[in-house]
Amino acid sequence: MMEKKNIKDLTMEELEEIVVQNGFPKFRATQIFKWIYKDVESFENMKNLPKKIIEFLKENYYIGRSLLIEKQQSKDGTIKLLLGLHDKSAVECVLMKYKHGYSICISSQVGCRMNCSFCASTEGGLVRSLSSGEIIEEVMATERENGVKISNIVVMGIGEPFDNYDELMKFLRIINHKEGMNIGMRHITISTSGIVPKIYSFTDENLQCNLAISLHSAIDEVRSSLMPINRKYNIEELMKACDYYINKTNRRITFEYALIRDINDRKDDAKALVKLLKGKLCHVNLIPINPVEGKVYERSEHCSIEEFKKIIEESGIQVTLRRELGSDIQGACGQLRKNHFIEENDKI
Ligand code: SAH
Repeated sequence: MMEKKNIKDLTMEELEEIVVQNGFPKFRATQIFKWIYKDVESFENMKNLPKKIIEFLKENYYIGRSLLIEKQQSKDGTIKLLLGLHDKSAVECVLMKYKHGYSICISSQVGCRMNCSFCASTEGGLVRSLSSGEIIEEVMATERENGVKISNIVVMGIGEPFDNYDELMKFLRIINHKEGMNIGMRHITISTSGIVPKIYSFTDENLQCNLAISLHSAIDEVRSSLMPINRKYNIEELMKACDYYINKTNRRITFEYALIRDINDRKDDAKALVKLLKGKLCHVNLIPINPVEGKVYERSEHCSIEEFKKIIEESGIQVTLRRELGSDIQGACGQLRKNHFIEENDKI
């Protein structure tokens, strides 16, 4: 017998094709799609479908749901969820409440192979990439478990989204679909460490989705020491790709810059950043580095952060200092890790 597949991995177009190929009218696909994203648990609960198509779905598919392994709530209300997948891997996502609604930070892979020296997610390397359905389920499980409706998504959790490009694109198309979750592309941000060829591909997708680039230094030598990807695609190549994106989409890029004491937070670093970004349609998001167990990096001092910010500001480049949420639950940028899941496996 063929192994059953996760129905959440199908785009509407794929679902339509399958429905038609198996002799059912095309409109059934829309009905199925709607039910999936209304979060029904079983095919039997898809009330307006005939028995025959329900049987067909049951024989070939399952409705992938993750299992809540752990939920931690920060003093500031931020919630971190650890979700178990069918193969006993686990992923983390973080729910944040803002004035304008709920935002979720989701993971794109189990582990990561980018090896950024300051990041916790990279420990243990890459286990595997998530399927589009598993990425969507992070959003669905978080809504289900917390009784909220999510309006903003940032793909800034564990993993490098552009190292899982095809599934990420499918995820975007499914979550954006008007018959499903209908989350607007403008409310979604993808963050990449700078996989240059994928920045070109992403630009050509012509989506309204936001792009963030983890820059962390405007100096090749420093960036390479922090982010090995810079040895493959250096800053010049990265900037060419960014210019291509900006020119073609007319959309602003966010450059993320984690400030690390004495490594990338000096005046010269700020000046190099200004030189690199001046005149570009962009925004700089400064993140005081979050300490990660076992790593030597220290947070910049308050006065250097302010000075750094001032230099950027005075050059006319837009800059913000990221508000920190969830640091007491290891839920802040770069702190997500899957260190619980080995002991927790038994529960799945
Ligand atoms: N792989 C993607 C997305 C995940 S990381 C990327 O690199 O962009 C999301 C952001 O958190 C990135 O900018 C990353 O560099 C940053 N980050 C990682 N570890 C951090 C830490 N310890 N403190 C602050 N930011 C960190």
